[in-house]
Amino acid sequence: MDELADRARTLDAIDPLAACRRLFTIPEDVVYLDGNSLGALPVAAAARISRAVGEEWGVGLVGSWNSAGWYELPLRLGDRLGALLGVAPGQVAVCDTTTVNLFKALAAALAMRPERSTMVMDHGDFPANLYVAEGALLAAGRPIERRLLADDEQPAVHLDEQVAVVALSHVSYRSGRIRDIAGITRAAHDAGALVIWDLCHSAGVLPLRLDDWQVDFAVGCAYKYLNGGPGAPGWIYVASRHLEVARQPLSGWMGHAAPFDFEPGYRPAPGIRRFLCGTPHVLSLRGVEAGLDTYDGVDIEAVRAKSIALTELFAERVEERVRSGSAGRRGTEIRMVSPRAAAERGSQVALAFADGHAVVRAMIERGVIGDFRAPDVMRFGFQPLYLSHTEAIRAADVLAGCMRDEVWTEERFLRRAVVT
Ligand SMILES: *Cc1c(COP(=O)(O)O)cnc(C)c1O
Repeated sequence: MDELADRARTLDAIDPLAACRRLFTIPEDVVYLDGNSLGALPVAAAARISRAVGEEWGVGLVGSWNSAGWYELPLRLGDRLGALLGVAPGQVAVCDTTTVNLFKALAAALAMRPERSTMVMDHGDFPANLYVAEGALLAAGRPIERRLLADDEQPAVHLDEQVAVVALSHVSYRSGRIRDIAGITRAAHDAGALVIWDLCHSAGVLPLRLDDWQVDFAVGCAYKYLNGGPGAPGWIYVASRHLEVARQPLSGWMGHAAPFDFEPGYRPAPGIRRFLCGTPHVLSLRGVEAGLDTYDGVDIEAVRAKSIALTELFAERVEERVRSGSAGRRGTEIRMVSPRAAAERGSQVALAFADGHAVVRAMIERGVIGDFRAPDVMRFGFQPLYLSHTEAIRAADVLAGCMRDEVWTEERFLRRAVVT
């Protein structure tokens, strides 16, 4: 009797998303649990990028800026992505990177609250967000104090009439904990502040309603759950009510009101176009397009339901099979970092273990790809479009096997690669 494996097989048999697996190329015998770092390859991406190279570039040459719609690509894909964010057209651009887009959003938001002198972020946020915020504060042209939330601290305690901006991740890259985006946005607005949400770990796996929630700005990337490919451009959402006044400092020609008039002075384009900077990354945008295609006709509520089932099966299997008491070299036991309640957890399960790096390396050798985030977090991300419930069980079994075998005693698993 294996109750969890039976449940997984039953869920696979009635899985409304099972057919989506065919849209992806994934090496056989690999359980890919790193779609929260780099999504898998959509089958159609190779042909689409190759056509962009061979026909659009090779034959159409410079004329493809018009004839192949290259010029419009950042906003056209923005509107398609906007459907996954729950926003009306004309508010999303696919461009630059998450980091650069966050810089633009921070600068724009700080300038919209010129009389205010503080901002709120989370000390545990993805470090790139903290780094680029340092730069945005330097560039703000006035002294701004940054308040960093401590572990488990809620932003509400910092909200007062001095706060210009609250910039947070919706889902923690490390623990997978979901923040109350609607409630925090409302509280920030009540205090007169603007919000910027980073949706890197929620777009594509959580139902989102940014317009209804009155979110001001949001940013994210397209190469994680959205399967846009390595180095795919990020995206930025700016609520239409701000688009008249919001100005971003990277005032490049693609954000100009009339880029081909070649005027010497900058005039921001009307609408979301003003958040573009330089020339679009056309080939990479074709990858984003192929990634978005995999969501055609997909019900995001079904994605969320399956995501919960996958992470729940994995977590339950870990609890059932991973022997507590396997202490590793440093005498620390494995422990769940992600919230145990499914409603508070995004599409990943994170486990802390001092020798986690060696365990992740050994799991990869056994066909289960997750990743490791220093100092001690093993992350397992579940993209419901291409994973089965049975694979969630298999992954946990492989983890249990690596723990049982005490793989951290093997020299080859202790070496670190440049990218973890
Ligand atoms: C992945 C990730 C980023 C990455 O930003 P890039 O500009 O694409 O390097 C930023 N923020 C968060 C929260 C992320 O998870």
